[in-house]
Amino acid sequence: MTKTNKIGIIVDEDFASKNAPPYPHPIFLSYETPLRIGSILNFLEEKNVFLNERVIKIKPVSVEESVLKLAHTKYHIDSVKNFSNRGFGLLGEEIFITEDTYELAKKAVGGTIQAINSVLNNDVDQSFALIRPPGHHALREKASGLCIFNNIANSIIHLKDNRQYNKKIAIIDIDAHFGDGLVQYFYDDPSVLYFSVHEFDFEEGDIGFIDELGEGEGLGKSINFPIPMNTSDEDFLEFLDILEPVLNEFTPDIMIIAAGFDLYFADPIGNGLLTSISYYNFTEKLLKIAEKICEGKLVFILEGGYSLIGLPHCVYAVIKALMGEEHEPQIFEKVQFSTEAKNEEISKIKNSLRNLLADYWNSLK
Ligand SMILES: [Zn+2]
Repeated sequence: MTKTNKIGIIVDEDFASKNAPPYPHPIFLSYETPLRIGSILNFLEEKNVFLNERVIKIKPVSVEESVLKLAHTKYHIDSVKNFSNRGFGLLGEEIFITEDTYELAKKAVGGTIQAINSVLNNDVDQSFALIRPPGHHALREKASGLCIFNNIANSIIHLKDNRQYNKKIAIIDIDAHFGDGLVQYFYDDPSVLYFSVHEFDFEEGDIGFIDELGEGEGLGKSINFPIPMNTSDEDFLEFLDILEPVLNEFTPDIMIIAAGFDLYFADPIGNGLLTSISYYNFTEKLLKIAEKICEGKLVFILEGGYSLIGLPHCVYAVIKALMGEEHEPQIFEKVQFSTEAKNEEISKIKNSLRNLLADYWNSLK
């Protein structure tokens, strides 16, 4: 059956030119760069994605400060604004500020809101916000981990407050890192499911353990699926064995994907060994689930992903899967990784999670 779904892509040249890190050499802080979006847009244009009549370009509009205040303290907002006005600054060890940061970060929140609204309003069937800076580490009171404002949290709270939206939302976070900012906003909220698949991070000692399940009414609605370093295409989608039954039981009205691509094998920050095939297969599966339970309402919001070569292919793979078209991996992705089995570790995680979650989900009993 030929698909006829329409896909909205939130695009703005500002994301490909502004907020350039003031570090010329490749260090951690310089990975979050306008080149990320530039490389994606160049690639999508070369592939004629925007000439396809099923693809709708949507230009993001910045939000007012009042919207930021829904998810952030005045002090945090002012800090970013003040440093931007000065033209530079280091706000914490993982946050650089330039003269564009404040405006661009506001536009990233605006683009996220539009990606969600365009799907809820039935303007398009699915959407993808190609925005930066990313958001899932940002906390209410401070920026963190290359993230300024929490794009997804801000958008959901805005939706609930301004549109009196009271339906259920599932957030699926596939960034290499745990969304430690994002999870906190909805930890006790039974109407928002947060499911994160992320790598164990022994070095940074990140949270995101399997027994962080939420609190109060929200118990069981925070689900963490940590995966070992060097997880490859072969094992990555094992988390669907937990996610799929949970989604079927939860029946969200919409699914928002915190789409980080830093588990890609060539990513300079993440420790995964995925290729674009994983992102294609994930999207294809999730779209099928979404078509069954929420009229296919899927929204992708760009988070991490720092390989300038790999990132465009991963984003393109997601769009191809949404379009229902075949995906051909690039020649440089046809690499043979060590066959050392990760499956055993992942099976252990799956079994432990199933035991922990059986109290909250009948489908996992
Ligand atoms: Zn990340």
